Parts: sequence; structure tokens; C-alpha cells
Amino acid sequence: MKIGILALQGDVREHVNIIKKLDADAVLIKHPADLEYIDSLIIPGGESTAISLLMKKYGLYSKIKEKHSQGMPIYGTCAGAILLAKKILGNSMKPLGLIDIDIERNSYGRQIDSFEADLSIKNIGDFRGIFIRAPLVKRLHNQAEILAEHNKFPVMIKQNNVLITTFHPELTNDTRVHEYFLSMAKEYKEIKDMHRDIEQI
Ligand code: GLN
Repeated sequence: MKIGILALQGDVREHVNIIKKLDADAVLIKHPADLEYIDSLIIPGGESTAISLLMKKYGLYSKIKEKHSQGMPIYGTCAGAILLAKKILGNSMKPLGLIDIDIERNSYGRQIDSFEADLSIKNIGDFRGIFIRAPLVKRLHNQAEILAEHNKFPVMIKQNNVLITTFHPELTNDTRVHEYFLSMAKEYKEIKDMHRDIEQI
């Protein structure tokens, strides 16, 4: 299985390592054409403004949206979650708008810039969440499903083929969130392969 990792800025290497640990292929994505042959995409944590500018520069917005509409799973961690949101509150940055949430950047404030918290994730169980200048999901609309919360705010959400966490599982040795995402990718690949086989008959 080929898992694309948007390699413009941020903690790309950490995601690559965890994907390799799970015996899948990590493919670095920089250009729209790179998205053609992958079974899912990870948008890493980092600086959402920088990633957004580079996405624009390389012409990635429309191709990512196109792959999303074909069903390709996309997982965003922290800055990646910001970029996937429908609305970024108090900011003019243009997000992809693929998950029905309103999100606010750097919302935990300076004092608690970074922290760790014990989370309980639906279908996964207890998980140590690492939050680094994390955003807050302030509003959540109809279709988005909350998989984990912290202090009553959602920190892990799934909507169809889009998954976000405002924390960083790639900075732990715990691979279970990535395994969860890989199961979404596997399902998509199976459907994609089936369609290809049917076309060849
Ligand atoms: N604060 C960053 C932003 O707004 C996100 C931080 C992170 O990805 N760890 O883009």
C-alpha cells in the first residue's frame, strides 16, 4: 500500500518512519502528479501558513480536492487538520475545506504552548496525546464524527474519508492511530482495484 505524505514543510520524516514501521510504502508528495499513484495522503503537522503557501505555489489544492472527491482517504495532523477544515476562524488563509469544522489556530495560548494528555479514542482505547501549539475545533457540523475529546473539545474527528487529529501520534511510538488510517486506505485501495479489474474485463 502506498501512503503519500505531503512533503512541503513540517514533521514529514516522523510520519514516514511510522508508515515504514507498519510495512507500507511512504511516498513523498510535492507535485500534483505525485498524487496519482497513492492510496491515501497524510498532511503533517508544521506551520499551516507555510504549507498553505507552498501548496498554492505547487498547484496542489485542486488535485487534492479531486482525489478527495474520488474517495481517497486524507489524514491531517495539527497543521494538517487546520488545512483540511472548512473554516479557519480569524484568519484569511485558504483551507481545503474537506471536513465540516471551524478551527482556531494556536488556541491553547502561550502558557500551555505544548502539553500531553491522556485521551480515550473510540475503537482504539487509551492514547497519550502530544499537543504542540495545537488548534481548537470550535464548531462541528452535521457529518463529522468525534473519535476523541479533550476538555470537551474534539481532538480527533472523522468525516467519510477525512481524518484529523489536533495532536501528534507520529511523535510517539504508538502506531495505532496510523493503523486506523491505514485501514481506511486499505478499504479505498480494494475498491479502486476492484473498479480497475472490472474495467479490464
Ligand atoms: N500552530 C501551527 C499552525 O497554526 C500548528 C502546529 C503544529 O502543527 N504542531 O499552523
